[in-house]
Amino acid sequence: MRAMVLDRPKQPLQLRDVPKPKPGRGQLRVRVNTCAVCRTDLHVVDGELPDLKLPLILGHQVVGRVEQIGKDAPSNFAIGDRVGIPWLGWTDGDCAYCRSGRENLCDNALFTGYTIDGGYADFTVADARYCFHLPDRYDDVQVAPLLCAGLIGYRSYRKTGGAQRLGIYGFGNAAHLIAQIALYEGRELFVFTRPGDNATQENARQLGAVWAGGSDEMPPKRLDAAIIFASVGPLVPAALRGLAKGGAVVCGGIHMTDIPSFPYADLWEERVITSVANLTRRDGDDFFAIVPRVPVRTHTETFLLEEANTALDRFRAGKLNGAPVLVVNRAAPSEVAAMDLNSRESSGEPR
Ligand SMILES: [Zn+2]
Ligand SMILES: [Zn+2]
Repeated sequence: MRAMVLDRPKQPLQLRDVPKPKPGRGQLRVRVNTCAVCRTDLHVVDGELPDLKLPLILGHQVVGRVEQIGKDAPSNFAIGDRVGIPWLGWTDGDCAYCRSGRENLCDNALFTGYTIDGGYADFTVADARYCFHLPDRYDDVQVAPLLCAGLIGYRSYRKTGGAQRLGIYGFGNAAHLIAQIALYEGRELFVFTRPGDNATQENARQLGAVWAGGSDEMPPKRLDAAIIFASVGPLVPAALRGLAKGGAVVCGGIHMTDIPSFPYADLWEERVITSVANLTRRDGDDFFAIVPRVPVRTHTETFLLEEANTALDRFRAGKLNGAPVLVVNRAAPSEVAAMDLNSRESSGEPR
């Protein structure tokens, strides 16, 4: 099968012919239709994350069809079912974190496209217990970015509790998805972009933000919470300064540059800084239940599997017009027929 392989960080992925993986106990073999590219993939390729598997097949927003079912796999998927494979690939179910409902922090967790192979390939295998059924109203391209940008973004959003005035720093893929849910739930949205990025600020206002400005500006009102999706450490004290008493800054990324020091007075009055790590299966179930109700719209830009390096380069350079999605295999004829029945409205919007 074809795979885009990372041999070493800081090198381009190599298109290679590799053996098709065999499903082990409890695993599904999935024919990959699409795989969205995540900022985390950039951090992996750029050597900013430790302990990765090498050589590695990246990709943790995988959409495909079940082709083969391994021994003793749970019966939640049948041959031909559509399946979504997320970042959380396996947990031991047995450590203190797993036993207290925090499998996202599992001591022995394995992560798709990082410590186990992912979806930048024609086929992949995944533990069936960590795979999701996906909402029917989205096609394979539209739904792919929901699997991480959406899902881990949603966990960040949930960490803001009932915050009425919600700030978002960095208005990329995750922010765009989560903003729609926040507005649906009646939150007031304050969006911070790179100073001078008037186009993104205008986008945010059109989406429904009550205010949009540069990250060097203070919000017009103090915020109950702020989520930081940009991997820029100095945004943490900046966001903290704009918080109301008891407010929280939630760092939604896996990697961030160093955070500069700041006066304790900015943290005083029970302000909180927290990070978000990974996801639980419960997050996924909750997220995929709310997404079609909003309905969350995704904006995507597609690439072929062999164009993965181009997608990564353009992501790094900020030159994308939507969430990047690799189209690995065209949907099989029977799947296309099913899609036509749902009559697609226009590209980039859920049906
Ligand atoms: Zn565990
Ligand atoms: Zn991701």
